[in-house]
Amino acid sequence: MAIRIEKKIVNYEVARDPAETHGTPSPGDAANAPDIEHMHELVQRPEELEGNTYKIKTPHSEHALYVTINDIVLNPGTDHEMRRPFEVFINSKNMDHFQWIVALTRIISAVFRKGGDCIFLVEEMRSVFDPRGGYFKRGGRFMPSLVAELGDVIETHLRKIGMIEPEELDEHQKAYLDQKRQEALEKSGEEPGDGGFPANSQLCNKCHTKAMVLMDGCLTCLNCGESKCG
Ligand SMILES: [Zn+2]
Repeated sequence: MAIRIEKKIVNYEVARDPAETHGTPSPGDAANAPDIEHMHELVQRPEELEGNTYKIKTPHSEHALYVTINDIVLNPGTDHEMRRPFEVFINSKNMDHFQWIVALTRIISAVFRKGGDCIFLVEEMRSVFDPRGGYFKRGGRFMPSLVAELGDVIETHLRKIGMIEPEELDEHQKAYLDQKRQEALEKSGEEPGDGGFPANSQLCNKCHTKAMVLMDGCLTCLNCGESKCG
């Protein structure tokens, strides 16, 4: 049935799904509680945001890149307080590729503001390979491209704000790997390489660090403990 609108429209509201309005949230299901704010695209940017700036220096450019990720704090001061990434900026004296960098930062910021799980960004960016070849970072870690390193920065940030669980080794594992590292260094009789690992270490496929040595017939990573035998 058509409705003729005779007056000016001064206000409107999107009709809600009745199941949503009348559905009873299961007890303890905090995500369904109506007064908890989650990240979504209509969350307004406050005047002031807190963030972190990370420096990236690659052998491909003489100038460093500075990556700033700002966060928004939702439900501040409540039990549901959460910090979520809101926007990313990249600055550099190097203006090569600047249009792509600006495009990338705008798209990443838009993904952040949509809310939900943004961890897939890290995986997507990490798997970008530069046709000119990657490079090793200080510490012997391999970066296949600048984009991959930006993904790495985002991961570091998401860990810092608690969106990704830390993947830390326990004290016992750390002590064991440190002891093995000392043994391997003594055995090789060489000066340690960049990350403190034997200079002739191979690249580990798990943590992308040049820290894999042959120990008791097995290739063992002295950085993350990954081991391949036979
Ligand atoms: Zn490793």
